[in-house]
Amino acid sequence: MAAPAPAVADPKAKEVDCTRMKCVALTFDDGPGKYAGKLLDILKEHDAKATFFLEGQYVKSRPAYVKRMVKEGHAVGNHSYAHPDFTKSTPATIRNEIKKTNDAIKKAAGVEPKLLRPPYGMSDLQVQDIAVEFGMPIILWTGGSRDWESKNEEKIKKQTLSVAKGNSIVLMHDWVKQTVDAMPSIIKTLQRNGYHLVTVDDVIKHEELKPGDVFPLPEGWEQ
Ligand SMILES: [Zn+2]
Repeated sequence: MAAPAPAVADPKAKEVDCTRMKCVALTFDDGPGKYAGKLLDILKEHDAKATFFLEGQYVKSRPAYVKRMVKEGHAVGNHSYAHPDFTKSTPATIRNEIKKTNDAIKKAAGVEPKLLRPPYGMSDLQVQDIAVEFGMPIILWTGGSRDWESKNEEKIKKQTLSVAKGNSIVLMHDWVKQTVDAMPSIIKTLQRNGYHLVTVDDVIKHEELKPGDVFPLPEGWEQ
């Protein structure tokens, strides 16, 4: 028998539990991009959350977007300062790239990012060790929109919907105009199919990731 409805609205009712609900985490890399403002308007209009893996150099040039992302409940992560391949960088460069970006985000929005996504999703044991120093797990993606490649609204929508499944982490870019143009339709379709658009933090909540852990683990890797 169903439990009786509570007399008072449960203050935790809005809390997302992705072990019981259908969740998708859309993630936007390399920003804040040129179209971040329009994207934030669309997300707000549809009550959707997203995660932005930000590049420090653009945090510095577009700090107002970062402030708005945090204020409107989105998650912000670290995606390096100037996008070098970390697996071809010295430890000093990697540390500097992470630190400068964390500092820029802190300055722009008052928060310290908790998640690291290395440029191109390229990681190795050295990158993992340095992520441990910063206390950050490494977040990759379960599927990509291939938006940077197609730059075609219909193809981006089709590809995104084909990889958006329960607890997916989908790679997108807010500097691709066609991605932002496709967003209202992508969000409406996902929501109609029962998905909650949440942050990466919601999706990984029950994974118990430690600093330096890579999620999802690339094929053939062991944690
Ligand atoms: Zn990138």
